[in-house]
Amino acid sequence: MRTKLVAGNWKMHGGLAANRELLDALKAASADWSGVESAVCVPFPYLHQVRELLRGTPIAWGAQNLSEHEAGAYTGEVSGAMLRDFECRYVIVGHSERRRLYGEQDAQVAAKFAAAQRAGLVPILCVGETLEEREQGATEAVVARQLDAVLDTAGVAALRNAVLAYEPVWAIGTGRTATPEQAQAVHRYLRERIAGRDAEIAQEVRILYGGSVKAGNAAQLFAMPDVDGGLIGGASLIAEEFAAICKAAKAE
Ligand code: PEP
Repeated sequence: MRTKLVAGNWKMHGGLAANRELLDALKAASADWSGVESAVCVPFPYLHQVRELLRGTPIAWGAQNLSEHEAGAYTGEVSGAMLRDFECRYVIVGHSERRRLYGEQDAQVAAKFAAAQRAGLVPILCVGETLEEREQGATEAVVARQLDAVLDTAGVAALRNAVLAYEPVWAIGTGRTATPEQAQAVHRYLRERIAGRDAEIAQEVRILYGGSVKAGNAAQLFAMPDVDGGLIGGASLIAEEFAAICKAAKAE
């Protein structure tokens, strides 16, 4: 039985006052989704504040990126050990915005995944195809390539301490969500591909769906047998929306 996880990706949003308001509301509501794991992945400067606000609550926290290096002359970068200093549990790796806007390639994503685990963090590895790739019928080939790049480096056993997220690029921030059937098809494909390496790990690993999840569509997505929760962008900035998405995960 896989425990559902709903993780918010705040992206480059937030502010000290707004964060406090949002997290106070989520803390107050969190009893409503007991049994579901929840987390917020926040911009680096707010990790201290978020740790102070969420410590001792059921809501975990994490970051949205990390360096593949341990330490050194890498101006502007943040290491996994630094994230652990702030008691992060999760770190998003290979988000499509990092791949597209900052040129992160599969090999670098794999190195970041490994760096996260070396630091004791749980990477949330994002994979997903663009609209053009979907229309060319290349969805499976693309997500397989992105997944294999990590498994070839880290080994399938690394998935015991990791989370996968299927995020079709065409659904991120666009208001256009994959249908539950479209999501399920790719999630099942990913699980079968992992099973090709290790059937037990394939059954254990959580695969989140991300891409315009909202309170209004979460329940149908989470009802799919291979959808184990969500990675939530825009809706994670609105307390009532995020709370309702977490509650929808509990219902399934
Ligand atoms: C994301 O950024 O991971 C995401 C899923 O964004 P949104 O929910 O806004 O589509």
